Amino acid sequence: MDSVIYLDSPASTRLDPAVRAAMQQDAPGNPHAVHAWGAQARQRIERAKQQVLSLAGPGELVFTSGATEANALAILGMALRELRLGGQRRTILTCATEHASVLELKSLLAHWGFQLRALPVQRTGRLDPEALNEALGPDVLMLSLMTVNNETGVTQDWEALSACTGRLTVHTDAAQAVGKVACLPARADLITLSAHKMHGPQGIGALLIRRGPKPDAWLRGGGQQQGLRSGTLPTALCIGFGASCQVMHARGEADRRHIRHLGRSLAQGIADIWPGATRIGADGHCVDGILCMQLPGATARAVLGAMPNVAAATGSACAERNDKISHVLKAMRVRNARACLRLGVSRLTSASDIERFLVQLDSVRAQMAP
Ligand code: PMP
Repeated sequence: MDSVIYLDSPASTRLDPAVRAAMQQDAPGNPHAVHAWGAQARQRIERAKQQVLSLAGPGELVFTSGATEANALAILGMALRELRLGGQRRTILTCATEHASVLELKSLLAHWGFQLRALPVQRTGRLDPEALNEALGPDVLMLSLMTVNNETGVTQDWEALSACTGRLTVHTDAAQAVGKVACLPARADLITLSAHKMHGPQGIGALLIRRGPKPDAWLRGGGQQQGLRSGTLPTALCIGFGASCQVMHARGEADRRHIRHLGRSLAQGIADIWPGATRIGADGHCVDGILCMQLPGATARAVLGAMPNVAAATGSACAERNDKISHVLKAMRVRNARACLRLGVSRLTSASDIERFLVQLDSVRAQMAP
């Protein structure tokens, strides 16, 4: 695997060696048990929670199995709360470029009498504050809007959007944002996190409840985590998640500088090699760690097929298996979406990864570019 050029960090990042080492300090026993082993595990989980909060900011943290579940807890949980309280608000606003774990809640919400309304985005991938303003009304329960898009790296204009939202509950899926942006949107009341997007383990994430109403639990059982998400907490995964946050918190701007430098040289290198190559969504509103590059004359699938030791993607990992045109690129009215290659740069990407990729792309260009 050493020869693999790993440029697929938006799908999953590699486990940081320090995180792997921390996870060896797992504690046996059920962390919710009253005996000494339980107490020890609980203590380690509490420490992990504090490490996550040190990075993400204060609030109530609910561990989940990942971002998918945290998104569902935020959105379904707010809908359940509205039903329990006998409220009449039935519209949940989101946008057309959200992750499937948000958009696919539509039919379930419809069964419960809610409308998940995905607002169109501009060609830049950003939601127009005017469009949001027009959609707001007494029927709206909440807004769910991702911080950083997982296919394009596009960020939203939170300052302008926040001005319209008043006291509405705002949720943001920040799975792709941690480590890539200096701070999470101040306006968000509920924040989704995922450990495996930040060099932590797969299978754990969290919903951070910063303020305002708490979603109702839909995973019920033993009443763990203040009843917000039943189920035994996975001690080793919590420790790994905490450790990944601690490393990221400590490295902070150094990581962002590294990502900025490599991301920009990757984008420039591709533009220099491939005639007419363009970055999708690039108008200064994309994070440097996620690049969606359109390569005229080729399909991303063919390019990746010709570079078997490069791990990158033709879209989100979830949509890729079905070979569907990306709903994100469709919403941005990108023509020839199949020519778009998604590349990711993270803390563990090296300058040599970028150089080796560009050398390979150069030889592919000789075969495929117009
Ligand atoms: N939201 C976003 C923005 C993502 O990129 C992903 C992973 N592709 C998810 C949610 C789902 O994350 P998880 O694997 O942690 O459930």
